[in-house]
This record gives sequence, C-alpha cells and structure tokens, in this order.
Amino acid sequence: MTQSTAMPALFISHGSPDTVIADTQAAAWLRKLAADLQRPRAIVVASAHFEVTGGVMVSSAPNPETIHDFGGFAPELYAMQYPAPGDPELARRIVRDLLAAGFNSRTSESRGFDHGVWVPLKLIYPDADIPVVSVSVDPSKGPEYHVRLGQALAGLGAEGILVIGSGSFTHNLGEAFKALRSGQRQLAVPAWVQEFTDWMKARLAANDVEALINYRQSAPFAAKNHPTDEHLLPLYVAMGASGEAGTATLVHDSAEFGVLAMTMWRFDHARATAEAG
Ligand code: ZN
Repeated sequence: MTQSTAMPALFISHGSPDTVIADTQAAAWLRKLAADLQRPRAIVVASAHFEVTGGVMVSSAPNPETIHDFGGFAPELYAMQYPAPGDPELARRIVRDLLAAGFNSRTSESRGFDHGVWVPLKLIYPDADIPVVSVSVDPSKGPEYHVRLGQALAGLGAEGILVIGSGSFTHNLGEAFKALRSGQRQLAVPAWVQEFTDWMKARLAANDVEALINYRQSAPFAAKNHPTDEHLLPLYVAMGASGEAGTATLVHDSAEFGVLAMTMWRFDHARATAEAG
C-alpha cells in the first residue's frame, strides 16, 4: 500500500466575524486544527459570503485583498489582514475543471478574501503562507448543484490541496441578533435548532446524500434554521469534494447564542484500494 493519503475536505462553521478574536470553543478548536492535517500546498474555500448567481466565480488575484464585509464590530477586526497569496494558476485550472464538468465558470482577478475565507484561515493558518483560492456559491441553486460543484473539485485532495466549505450549520441571523442583544454568548440551544442539527448529523453520519440534498423538504425546522440557505451550501461543496463514496466525521460541535450551531465536519475520500503509485 502506498501511503499518499488524500487531504480531506472540511466544512467549517465560521460564526460571527469576531470569532477570530473570541474566546469560544469553536475558535479554540480552529486554532488547533492544523496539527491534525498534513500541510496543504494550497487551500480552496467555497464561502457563503461569495455569492454569485448563474455560474461559479474563482478568485485569481496573485495577492487578494482582505475584505471587511461586516458592520458594527470592534475596530481591531477592520484592521486585520490576511495576506496569504492567491494562486492564479490553480484558479484557472479549477475554472477549466468546472467548465469540463458542465458549469458556467470564470476567474475574477479583483475578488479578495471575504470573512468566510479569512476568519477561519487566520485561526487555522495564522502565518498566511499557504496560497488560497476562493470559490463562489450560487444562492439560486440548491444542494444538489453544490454537491456536483464539490465533486468537480474532488481531485484536488490527492494533490495536497485542502478544500473547505465555509458557512454555518444553522444560520438564523434574526434569532442570533436577538440573542446577541442579551449580551450572552452561551445560551441554551432551542429545540428547533437541536431537532434540525440532530437530523442533519444522523444523515451525514449515514452518508445519506439523497436525504441531505432534500433537507429543505425533510429536515425539521429547515427553513427556520436557514431562512436562506447560502450558509449551508458550502457543506454540500465539502461533501462532494471527498468524492462519491466519501465519509463524514463530526469533528467539532458547539453553539453560540444558542441558535448558531458551530458544527464542523471532515469529509474523507474513500480509500483507494488497487491504485498503483
Ligand atoms: Zn457567515
């Protein structure tokens, strides 16, 4: 057996932008994550905050800017930079792969790193010395489209490239702001969140892709947990990026403001059995 194990894909709940300076369980977990992974040669992030309809955009700037795409947070957050290089060649290659897989796709030389990209990466790889390419999600398309999008990226893991879907396992911002105003970050998880996350966790553990694709019809309180589903779509990209027989492992589970599930998943490729090196 040769031992070139493919990089897993990850789904990360990035939480509120101040996760990057917060003393939360999720932030602590992200700070330790790099120790559990081979060092990737590049990172590809599908971010809930990079929303493009009608096609997939891929960032191709050699030095993408850090975007502070949020309001009302501490000044230090707006001063933060994540100066990781881009990887224009990888971006062009991803666009070619997506076009070959039937997606409309193009590069963007102006797209920077939104907070769905840089907040978790600043915690995982604070040195910002690994090239990063970001990929858009399409809020007008559902889960199935994003599984296929992930599958078009499934070859990257074997090349030492880490694919991350960055979103939120639950994302009712209205309810989160209500809780935020209470001033407490640690609140009890309400039943409508618990029932939804329990359902999703069971389907992910069973690799029940069909049920997961239809989550909006089948999962309890789906629309209440995701009034719009752009924050869940990166989960499907990460799922697809581990290939058709990939396996999901729950790697972190906590909640903020009661209603924001910070649940994270690792998707591993099925073990190649007779692959000669
Ligand atoms: Zn977000």
